[in-house]
Amino acid sequence: MVRRYGLVVIAVVAMACVTNPATGRPQLNLLSEAQEIALGREADQQIRAEMGVYDDAGWQAYVTRVGMAMAKKSHRPNLPWSFVVVDASAVNAFALPGGFIYVTRGILPFLQSEAELANVLGHEIAHVTALHGASAYSKQQLTGLGLGLGRILAPERYGGVFGGLEMAMSLAFLKHGRDAEREADRLGVGYASASGWDPAGMVGLLSTLGRLSEASGSSRGVPNFLTAHPLPEDRIAAVKDLVTAEGPGAQTVDAAEFSGRLPGVVWGDSREQGIVRGREFVHPILRIALRFPDGWEISNSASQVTAQPAGEAQAAVVLRVVSNASGGPAQTARTQMARTQMAAAKLTEVSGGETTINGQRAYVGTYRGEQEVVRAAFIVAGSTTYLVAGVATSQAFGSAQGTFANTIESFRTMTQAEADQIQPFRVGQYSVRSGDTWTSIASSAAPRPIGPATLAIMNGATAASRPPVSARIRVVVSG
Ligand SMILES: [Zn+2]
Repeated sequence: MVRRYGLVVIAVVAMACVTNPATGRPQLNLLSEAQEIALGREADQQIRAEMGVYDDAGWQAYVTRVGMAMAKKSHRPNLPWSFVVVDASAVNAFALPGGFIYVTRGILPFLQSEAELANVLGHEIAHVTALHGASAYSKQQLTGLGLGLGRILAPERYGGVFGGLEMAMSLAFLKHGRDAEREADRLGVGYASASGWDPAGMVGLLSTLGRLSEASGSSRGVPNFLTAHPLPEDRIAAVKDLVTAEGPGAQTVDAAEFSGRLPGVVWGDSREQGIVRGREFVHPILRIALRFPDGWEISNSASQVTAQPAGEAQAAVVLRVVSNASGGPAQTARTQMARTQMAAAKLTEVSGGETTINGQRAYVGTYRGEQEVVRAAFIVAGSTTYLVAGVATSQAFGSAQGTFANTIESFRTMTQAEADQIQPFRVGQYSVRSGDTWTSIASSAAPRPIGPATLAIMNGATAASRPPVSARIRVVVSG
């Protein structure tokens, strides 16, 4: 959960059919290059604010160096290219029109070499040079499904706090078609190869992602990766053909050097996003904590933390930041905010009033919607107001309300000393001993931050294999 920022409005006026700089084919593009860059720049601000920039200057500089080498040899060397590692645990990479390229810190431990990093960046560069994002944006505008119109038709619940973020996210996580993905593979492999990296890195990368995808059904803790990048079975075969066509050259792989950079990289939730430990969500930067109900599954996304019982859920609890007001709102303003927010979500107050929760001022109320009942607390801690809301179907509310009350009452602030002790998991190294299995190694850390299948995949192996004795492998350790 991180803080949110304001609104972005993009006006697009001109309309043109241009020659695609990467493919040479004519194609629809409503955006001039200047507009494309402006669109990307606005969305880039939103992505940085929402996901956060990973706080590691070394990694930022390294990814920028590898990316820039290829961007300068691409079909559009003069764009204002930027390469950023965002502070997200999911395994992903994405691009915005205008030359804004991102990898998540979550993908880093799964890359086996610098060549694989180069190929993933090359693939994303290609989405920009071949105008995949810009032309998808243009098509949306033309068909009247423009993002602005969509937003008016489907206003966000809880007062439209998303603003321009929806646009940034939908641009960043566009589902490109099969042809666009293949084109990006082809161009990306070419950019990597032309800049001195082994194009076979793309094959290794796709194999790893394929294994992760397979494992994610069964193994807990595997990130929901590359939703924007479908992996058709024959894509790897197609890339192998491309690599053969590129032919051998003086091509860098740098696997050992790359692995040497990984120890210390944050694994899973970061301090900046807040960390789930057992049943409790703790946020050492905001210095708040909330205890979720026993047995519920907690998921910490960028915008909020939610918890639901396993299986068919009739109830959920949500924690999110509502606003940052200096000094915290006075009682009348707090009451007013609660009413405005819930009215905007089309919820009618049944009862409500001022109270304190573990020493923090709060407004707690029960609200009825068309099909749901909500128990919501607006809690002021420091200069920030938080919303803790239990939502249940009208039928389920009766049995859920005790759980909701307990969760709301568990909200607490923490001291700086307690906050300082909360550290994330990190990538570490381990020398394999005789008799070790992926399962035994994964089980040796407590609480277990990674499953055996994911651990094997992180080391470029399959779960069925044996870790090679005396090899230095990647593991996840307590910070
Ligand atoms: Zn792609």
